[in-house]
Amino acid sequence: MLDSFKSLVLNYSYEPLQFCSARHAIIMVFGGRAEELDSAGYTVHTPSTSFQLPTVIRVLKMVRRKRKKTLSFSKKNILRRDNYTCQYCGTSNHPLTVDHVVPKSRGGGTNWTNIVVACKTCNLKKADRTPLEVDMKLRKPPGKPEYHFISFVIPSGPESHVEIWQKYLPENSATKSVAF
Ligand SMILES: [Zn+2]
Repeated sequence: MLDSFKSLVLNYSYEPLQFCSARHAIIMVFGGRAEELDSAGYTVHTPSTSFQLPTVIRVLKMVRRKRKKTLSFSKKNILRRDNYTCQYCGTSNHPLTVDHVVPKSRGGGTNWTNIVVACKTCNLKKADRTPLEVDMKLRKPPGKPEYHFISFVIPSGPESHVEIWQKYLPENSATKSVAF
């Protein structure tokens, strides 16, 4: 159980840092390096004691992070920026692809501000036209994401955990677990 559950680690400043295994989170709390901030109420029993499984912990010393200044432009990162959601109809269940908002044939660039996630249906419907010409609206204007949000893809876990994590994470964190 300890190895399948994840815990969210926050910096001393409450800024989210990463996810770790619940086992590692417990070792950090017991070792005095972190405090438990939130728990979904799962109890862990050991021969001598029992305690609540931490869902969110906070390190007790500021961790300085090296931030990557640039995020590479790739299909994978476009999918993560758009939360695996078609930017025209909002579906996340259909097979997804990426779409040039202004078509390539009309001079549209292959970059953060002209590429969005689209489902295959919308992609076909739009074809070689601009959204205006086919009366399709983008849900939000595409842009280059900040680096920090992109690292927060919420791992799969019990719903109670996911709900708690969402309180501490940026709003647009993807909720799918993705292998990368
Ligand atoms: Zn669509």
